[in-house]
Amino acid sequence: MYDLIIRNARIADGLGSPLIDGDLAVKDGRVAAVGDVEGGGAVETVEANGDVLAPGVIDIHTHYDAQLTWDQTASPSPALGVTTIVIGNCGFGVAPAPAEHRDSILANLAEVEAMSLESLRAGIDTNYESFREYMSLLEQKGTYPNVAVLASHTVMRTAVMGDQGSRRNATQDEIDQMLVLFREAMDAGAIGLGSSSNENHRGADGIPIASRLSSDDEFRAFARVLSEYNHGVFMATFGEKHGIPFVEEICRISGKPSCYAPHFYHPHQPKRAVQIMDQAEDARRRGLPVFTQGSCQPLSLSFYLDRAYSLKTYSLWPDTEDHDELRNVFSDPGFRDEFREALTIFDSAHLFTGRWEWVSIAVAGLKKNADLEGRNIAEIASERGVDPLELFFDLALEEDFRTKYTFFMLNTEEEGVAEIIANDGTLISLSDAGAHNSMLCDAGYAMHLFGHWTRELGLFDLATAIRKVTHDPAEVYGIINRGQLTPGAWADMILFDPDVISITKMTQHFDLPANGERLLRQAPGLRGTWINGTRVFDGQNYLEVRAPGHILKEFSGVCPKLGMGKRQQQ
Ligand SMILES: [Zn+2]
Repeated sequence: MYDLIIRNARIADGLGSPLIDGDLAVKDGRVAAVGDVEGGGAVETVEANGDVLAPGVIDIHTHYDAQLTWDQTASPSPALGVTTIVIGNCGFGVAPAPAEHRDSILANLAEVEAMSLESLRAGIDTNYESFREYMSLLEQKGTYPNVAVLASHTVMRTAVMGDQGSRRNATQDEIDQMLVLFREAMDAGAIGLGSSSNENHRGADGIPIASRLSSDDEFRAFARVLSEYNHGVFMATFGEKHGIPFVEEICRISGKPSCYAPHFYHPHQPKRAVQIMDQAEDARRRGLPVFTQGSCQPLSLSFYLDRAYSLKTYSLWPDTEDHDELRNVFSDPGFRDEFREALTIFDSAHLFTGRWEWVSIAVAGLKKNADLEGRNIAEIASERGVDPLELFFDLALEEDFRTKYTFFMLNTEEEGVAEIIANDGTLISLSDAGAHNSMLCDAGYAMHLFGHWTRELGLFDLATAIRKVTHDPAEVYGIINRGQLTPGAWADMILFDPDVISITKMTQHFDLPANGERLLRQAPGLRGTWINGTRVFDGQNYLEVRAPGHILKEFSGVCPKLGMGKRQQQ
């Protein structure tokens, strides 16, 4: 007698094999049989009607560290096909949190990941101090998805150095104390280390986040600790200061897979992404498991015109949030002309370049404009026979600054993006789920991969696309018996209609603690998500079940084979 049989599905094993038609049986949370499942019966039978049954998505780049203490479901990820999440990315997390530094840790997290500090404070359960206690807290509370936790470099630095962590190099004694914390985390089941030296990562009051103050030797010291363990991955969000050669050095010291983020296609520096890809590939050919985290979606940022942080890099942009003052400036034709002029001058500090086809309306402030939502400025302007820049300001003024714009800044050129994501060394991820809640919602990247890149553009066959977001990340991160639907593996599964699967535009919600705002999307065509054999999402809603997720603490130490062989054919 099985617990569950899913009948008449097209089954993807996650390993990239051609899909097979058949049934899948689950017993005690694991896949018990695949193919023709005869006899025995089951407590529950689901008719798949020929839809695709695949392993659930493993999202290696999320920021649910705080949210998991108040939201078991890790919304919205499981409703977007995700069954396992990795948290603690970029070196931001919430543990360890000694009482005297807890507030700094939260304030920094709120700033760097654009979370509402009010929501964080209202929502977070701070009933823990050490990393191990945090893991136990998650276990007690229960989680819908499986969770793996990276030890967070910035958090450990702040735990040892307090606010000084963001101001100066560490002494040898302080580094030693951090390494004690790191070993504690690894012993308690951390999947590896998360860090950052990215120049855009600023904490409270605009000061750098702590790991940016690390010397290269401090990074190397962490890598040496990693080498003492059988398992472990190093992930870092790097920018100008460190590139793939440094990631390769870390990998050489630690002997563990190392992952560079973010691997975006920059429209102004088209060669950059290819260089990163080639360097990582060269490292792998030297036998070093160096990978990158790429994205299959344009990187977007949503903003109101009275709080347009990405436009403040322009010196002429008004430094006020006062509506009367802003109204005067924005309606002045002289200002508009100057801004138009400024947009034509290239400067790598300006991500916003006035490419109006990449600026769209996320939320209209007035009901009568609701049909503009999801459409871009260039298109609307041409339809109305007006200038796009004039429309950009006029609409916000008409709606009294309640227009929420979305600006797509990187990864917009699909040819460039295709080359990156097709590479075996690129782990498709970068959802940042749980962070930047009011600015973006990229947690459903895999649904976009299946719908857009696979069905519409044909960049991958479906079996490969599924492998890219399931078994590939599992293999590199040493996540055992997941990301595959083979007998004995955990039954983390999604069922979807391959002709429909896609991701919707964003809609606005105020459902975070303290009525915090977030943007959400849905995945049409996704019929269900199962985690360790328990259905948690039915295509419409989360199901009220005993939280089935495991807090993962044991990982494989086997060096990944992915992308380690000869140069691949595109
Ligand atoms: Zn991140």
